[in-house]
Amino acid sequence: MTIRLPSELIAAGLAPADALADLARVAERYAVAITPEIAALIDRADPQDPIARQFVPDVKELEAAPGERADPIGDDAHSPVDGIVHRYPDRVLLKLVNVCAVYCRFCFRREMVGPGKQMLSPQQLDAALGYIAANPAIWEVILTGGDPLVLSPRRLTDVMRRIAAIDHVKIVRLHTRLPVVSPDKITPALVRALKASGKTTYIALHANHPRELTPAVRAACARLIDAGIAMVSQSVLLRGVNDDAVTLEALVRAFVECRIKPYYLHHADMAPGTAHFRTTIEEGQTLMRALRGRVSGLAQPTYVLDIPGGHGKVPVGPGYIDMCGDAGAVVEDIAGVRHGY
Ligand code: SF4
Repeated sequence: MTIRLPSELIAAGLAPADALADLARVAERYAVAITPEIAALIDRADPQDPIARQFVPDVKELEAAPGERADPIGDDAHSPVDGIVHRYPDRVLLKLVNVCAVYCRFCFRREMVGPGKQMLSPQQLDAALGYIAANPAIWEVILTGGDPLVLSPRRLTDVMRRIAAIDHVKIVRLHTRLPVVSPDKITPALVRALKASGKTTYIALHANHPRELTPAVRAACARLIDAGIAMVSQSVLLRGVNDDAVTLEALVRAFVECRIKPYYLHHADMAPGTAHFRTTIEEGQTLMRALRGRVSGLAQPTYVLDIPGGHGKVPVGPGYIDMCGDAGAVVEDIAGVRHGY
């Protein structure tokens, strides 16, 4: 059973009994869900366990930090119709559901997701798909949420069929945590539902720590990839979870071993009550430099920041080159030694 209540967190040994009142205050504000697979991964003897830190509520979530905002990446500023975010000309987000199988404590959409939050009505879905059909520049549709894979295979098949009927859309990408947090839900019926005739399907898998990639998770990803679905990774740089080179190295190696191309390492967004997870950008750049020296290009994610306010996502380094006008450039190697070019 998925753990949702403060009393269940305590009964499962994931929090001390005297934390009940604090847990209740956090749970009142932000949704809580921990699947049995994730609960089983948590080391109860380790107060710093990186899996627990991602999913077990913390009273620090009630502390607001300067600059934090309910819509940190500015989705609302780019939403022409309900469920659509059209920030870049050639792609849209289609937010089908506002629920997830788990609720990550650092979630950038934490104000929008949770049980009871609305999903798109049939009329809103018609209007969203109509918007995509009417905009021939849209080459890629990104299903996100919430977690779109919590929908039944029947509903996903319906949406994928309707997208497949739009000629100018070539790529359908789904952002999900489900293969990590509930690998058994990646059933043959679900895998079939994700294939849209004539389109290429990508799955962006959200995982942040190498321990999340258990044998069952790896098998679930293999079911998707063996069916012809390409996979990339998305991770968030999180203090106390993966903000060290050894953990990041193990994470990206695990992705590549699973045939998942490391894609993005997100700098943690300015979501409310998440300051205890955020590193500095300088720390992130130092980690990326360390990664460059440790693993091949195949295993390198791009370190990105979503500029608060809806101004889009950009790589935030580190940079290896200083341009010197007519005098050429100075390039730094992975050991930090600078060379003229
Ligand atoms: S699965 Fe994604 S959308 Fe859902 S809580 Fe985690 S980060 Fe947020």
